[in-house]
Amino acid sequence: MADIYDVLIVGAGHAGAQAAMALRQRKFTGTIALLGDEPDLPYERPPLSKDYLAGDKPFDRILIRPPAFWADRDVALLLGRRVETVDPAGKTVTLSDGTTIGYGALIWATGGSPRRLTCTGNALRGVHSVRNRADVDRMIAEMPTVARVVVIGGGYIGLEAAAVLTKLGKQVTVLEAQDRVLARVAGEPLSRFFEAEHRAHGVDIRLGVAVACIKERDGAAVGVRLADGTVLSCEMVIVGIGIEPAVAPLLAAGVAGGNGVTVDDCCRTSLPDVFAIGDCAAHANRFADGATIRLESVQNANDQANTVAKLLTGTPERYDAIPWFWSHQYDLKLQTVGLSIGHDTAIVRGDADTRAFSVIYLKQGRVIALDCVNATRDYVQGRALVERGAVVDPALLADPAVPLKTLA
Ligand code: FAD
Repeated sequence: MADIYDVLIVGAGHAGAQAAMALRQRKFTGTIALLGDEPDLPYERPPLSKDYLAGDKPFDRILIRPPAFWADRDVALLLGRRVETVDPAGKTVTLSDGTTIGYGALIWATGGSPRRLTCTGNALRGVHSVRNRADVDRMIAEMPTVARVVVIGGGYIGLEAAAVLTKLGKQVTVLEAQDRVLARVAGEPLSRFFEAEHRAHGVDIRLGVAVACIKERDGAAVGVRLADGTVLSCEMVIVGIGIEPAVAPLLAAGVAGGNGVTVDDCCRTSLPDVFAIGDCAAHANRFADGATIRLESVQNANDQANTVAKLLTGTPERYDAIPWFWSHQYDLKLQTVGLSIGHDTAIVRGDADTRAFSVIYLKQGRVIALDCVNATRDYVQGRALVERGAVVDPALLADPAVPLKTLA
């Protein structure tokens, strides 16, 4: 007879852990299992490319909750287990070891797998992604024999890793296919600022370049060849080119989706009693003009988890949370609120040379997002402008002497 849980959560990352915690906070008395394919207790992912990679925070300090917490809350942890198939009619999942588990409600919180390079050499020793603890532990183990690192992808994870590795004394090259770093997530002033910061720290940033292959010796990566024939010798390659949502078992079970699982504003999928949250959930977002998007952030993971917990405890509330995000590179603290996708104007507030300034994004005159660098006050006060889609005189937004709260 298969085990059956009232709520089975698949994926023991940020969203899954928060869903279990929120259900118990809301006095849910049914049985809960939190099942994940990693062997570890739920832990925070952001430090993987920051303090944990730097060796500044041990693993026990990045746990989402201490070990005793889960037993105290009567949450069954099924770790090191992987769901392979879902049977929505029988309300069961089957694991890679053949075990079947039944559910009353299934919360799919599986995040995504790092996108891999498709070129020759993509799986050599010394080629790494930065998605889970094991990835980073492998990098740390190799570190003593590494002098030169090539980072492929100038997104947040690649740049954060570049900052840490530079601090650790490595010679770092960042390769970006587009003509600026952070092109997918930020406006040009922010990209140019971070490029200049990295270069000032000795990072070789190359824009508009294509990777041809990873060069090998004795099964290990020894360099990256670019499409123009240039070879960059290195002992480590870090690939940060995005993720593919981990949704194959649900898609095979017939759920609506493609790039993620499509959910409604209460995180319901098209299958009965099946919900999806976090990086893998494609939802219509008000802050993206209603477009269906996936957000890859702790904010979204936690807030969607809370949305499902509210629904399952009888107090449904639509997911309508304002997106926010952060990144740490060197001594720079970037805080983002809103989504800058589709902006038509980027206003620089303050002087980037002081290393404390903000970029305010407008679309058709309305404030849609802020990127704040060492400028927490702007981040806190600018939130209301984004929430309301405020229309404000750009000259006032650009003037750091005018507090943003007076403009809301
Ligand atoms: P995850 O936390 O990835 O958890 C999903 C879990 O499900 C994983 O353990 C996975 O192995 C498991 N799983 C997948 N498939 C199965 C299966 N079939 N069966 C069982 N288990 C399965 N966000 C920020 O807001 N700020 C930051 O500074 C920031 N920095 C980041 C740095 C790094 C290096 C990374 C990788 C992410 C960062 N993020 C940051 C993003 C943030 O961590 C993610 O958005 C968040 O972890 C998403 O939570 P999740 O629960 O959806 O997915």
